[in-house]
Amino acid sequence: MPTTHAMAGLIARLHDPQYARWASQIRRTGGCRQPIHLRGKVEHIDRATGELLHRYSTHLEPNGVLRVACKTRRASRCPSCAETYRADTYQLVRAGLVGGKGVPETVTAHPCLFVTLTAPSFGVVHTRAEKNGKILPCHARRNAETCPHGVVMSCTARHGANESCLGEPLCPDCYDYAGSVLFNATAPELWRRFTEALRRRFARTSGLTLKELREQLAISFAKVAEYQRRGVVHFHAVIRLDGPDGPTSPPPAWATADALADAVRHAASAVTVTIPAVAGEPSRILRWGGQLDVREITMSGELTEQAVAAYIAKYATKAAECVGTLDRRIQLLDNLSALPVREHARRLIAECLRLGSLDELADLRLIQWAHMLGFRGHFSTKSRRYSTTLGALRAARADHMRDEQITTGRLPLFEEDTVLVIGHWEYAGQGLSAGDALLAAALTGTPLPTAHPRMEDSDG
Ligand SMILES: [Zn+2]
Ligand SMILES: [Zn+2]
Ligand SMILES: [Zn+2]
Repeated sequence: MPTTHAMAGLIARLHDPQYARWASQIRRTGGCRQPIHLRGKVEHIDRATGELLHRYSTHLEPNGVLRVACKTRRASRCPSCAETYRADTYQLVRAGLVGGKGVPETVTAHPCLFVTLTAPSFGVVHTRAEKNGKILPCHARRNAETCPHGVVMSCTARHGANESCLGEPLCPDCYDYAGSVLFNATAPELWRRFTEALRRRFARTSGLTLKELREQLAISFAKVAEYQRRGVVHFHAVIRLDGPDGPTSPPPAWATADALADAVRHAASAVTVTIPAVAGEPSRILRWGGQLDVREITMSGELTEQAVAAYIAKYATKAAECVGTLDRRIQLLDNLSALPVREHARRLIAECLRLGSLDELADLRLIQWAHMLGFRGHFSTKSRRYSTTLGALRAARADHMRDEQITTGRLPLFEEDTVLVIGHWEYAGQGLSAGDALLAAALTGTPLPTAHPRMEDSDG
């Protein structure tokens, strides 16, 4: 039920003489839950004469601000902007598989794999696995050991899909929390070394130098990070073989899907990142987990391009909050025990704060990325030649918006190159009041937000 405060705000907005203009701003944000408020002006000046042709200022807008969509990729913050991001990511991944958006259709003939690189084990956790439609016992051991903390290392339960214990350790005191957050922190570097090892493997098997290889073969990829319930990231990646000029050129005949699969398996097991011993922590060699999934993407087989693009796009809008942590930065002054997170996440966050305070590990910026459980990489990335870019997709949409503004009379139509456009913008806040949020949901047909604390301004 809306509060009386929210209802009062809603009624005040409806009676605002500028309501129609406010509603039009809100509709244009497409149901953004936390629109950004901009204050400023745009001037169109004739390049030849210096004459001011048109001026737009937020001065006369409702509350003196223009509200624009926040464009977050995170569904937990803004479902409608995240949906736009998801749809764009889908288009981007799909173009790299079947062509379109400037990628030729001949790209479908290039060998292409869907690869999942996982994290190693940091201790036994409650799991749920199915086999032939039956749920398997979690971690059944006949002669299970008892750990030094008195926990029997066995769980015979067949857990439900949403049980909160999933991903949590059987014994938290035995769990390697340091290893888990250090893996997250080094995963982007492991990925970088993996892609280098792929190239080296191809060079060795084809008898070419790395330079000669580059003249024949390019390896393109699009990848997304996904948090497992236990709080570690793994990567799903589309890896494609192209000729030297990218998707427009065919790869050499010897560069087959089988050769790529061999190189992926080799590279995944070969690369490591070493963390030196610090302050009571042993030195560690971090590597990918043993569970490596390599599947060929085909147009009609078991794993189609469409399924892969949808899968990657789905994970692009999720972050660590899916494992029960926060979707905002943690301040050092935050009271850890008061944070609304699962105990497992709390211990991972505490470990980030502890290790992050060690000078030797400062480069990993674990304090800054504690809310991401140590992972500071990008959620979805792609190599330059994989396909189009999110920027290009956004620019196409912005053009459309501009056309709409011109036709609805907001901007006069000028010749692009004869007019100088000068904009002055400043950030004037973000979000909607409780009453505005009710109205915005009704106007844009989006679900009402559930009550949640104001989010900080940070991104992962
Ligand atoms: Zn938004
Ligand atoms: Zn269990
Ligand atoms: Zn224990």
